[in-house]
Amino acid sequence: MEKKITVIRGDGIGPEIVIEALRVLDRIAEKFGHRFVYQEILAGGSAIDACGTSLPEESLQKCLDCDSVLLGAVGGPKWDGVPKEIRPEAALLGIRSAMGLYANLRPARLFPQLADASPLKPEITRQGIDLMMVRELIGGAYFGEHRTGEENGELTAHDDMVYAEHEIERIARTAFEIARKRSSRLISVDKANVLDTSRLWRKVVHRVAADYPDVACTDMLVDNTAMQLVKNPSQFDVIVTENLFGDILSDEASMITGSIGMMASASLGEGTRGMYEPIHGSAPDIAGTDRANPIGTILSAAMMLRYSFGMSAEADCIEQAVSAVLDEGFRTADCMSEGCTLLGCKAMGEAICGKI
Ligand code: NAD
Repeated sequence: MEKKITVIRGDGIGPEIVIEALRVLDRIAEKFGHRFVYQEILAGGSAIDACGTSLPEESLQKCLDCDSVLLGAVGGPKWDGVPKEIRPEAALLGIRSAMGLYANLRPARLFPQLADASPLKPEITRQGIDLMMVRELIGGAYFGEHRTGEENGELTAHDDMVYAEHEIERIARTAFEIARKRSSRLISVDKANVLDTSRLWRKVVHRVAADYPDVACTDMLVDNTAMQLVKNPSQFDVIVTENLFGDILSDEASMITGSIGMMASASLGEGTRGMYEPIHGSAPDIAGTDRANPIGTILSAAMMLRYSFGMSAEADCIEQAVSAVLDEGFRTADCMSEGCTLLGCKAMGEAICGKI
């Protein structure tokens, strides 16, 4: 197969981690007889420096004209003072919205080799953590009307949280499809005891559930979910929830699995094209020192193969290679522990390639 991948190296550690992900993709292409064609674009801080805006039109067009986008990370203190509309993060919102990426997938998996890195007690992590958080990405409170004005002699702020049936239905279908590919268990998270948007959410999810009789779907309130994630995370397989709840719960889920450098994500819309990126930022504190963990980006590339290109065997191959390297005790600085061998970003990329 031939696939065109738009690559955003970005800022800070972005270029270092992306190089390693491309190295892994090239190794996969060689092993499985594929051809990955990369088109590099500028976005984020580096684009501000070169073009005066974080998302030049040409970059956006190349995101729309490809099979998927792979991103390192953008931003850094250098651009903290730029106007809001052209901030590095605005580029990501622009790309997500232009590509219609409404579903954010964040796997939270505890590699048994890194169990010590989890803040949870061993008796909890021993049960295993391997869940997929599916978060609605372009609706709800973050995209409703925001206003601050004076009412009754004091400042009052409003943030409207709006969901239409079609927005809930499409993310629910994404989650049911993913549940089918895993263990066919889905938990839909809402706050239906208080919010109208949640009551509509629940109604639509139940309606969609009728089309997936093979998937066991249950509801859980968001406050209970936050507790259950630290008390008994092994009960979860796929979780689907709206934007604001998903933002908070997905950070909680990634923290319980250890280092932020290990965590991958995917953003998907209609069709197969998506944007794939590690969940962390540009880590300016370690940029250029070869200390970044490239595994989050490498696992994001594996998600791209699985979810956008239908290459499950290739994705499995990358995930197994990562696991094999960890088994041999190789670690980057962020998840180093006693008795292990410290590797830099480049050496970690090479070690993973060596296992493919
Ligand atoms: P961060 O995720 O960049 O860093 C937080 C901490 O985690 C730092 O100590 C960093 O060294 C460490 N870290 C992060 N990724 C790592 C990796 N792969 N390997 C080893 N250690 C790693 O968060 P921050 O410091 O709050 O943000 C830095 C910049 O990144 C900011 O400008 C922020 O706006 C931007 N940011 C970008 C994205 C994105 O591009 N998607 C996401 C979040 C933050």
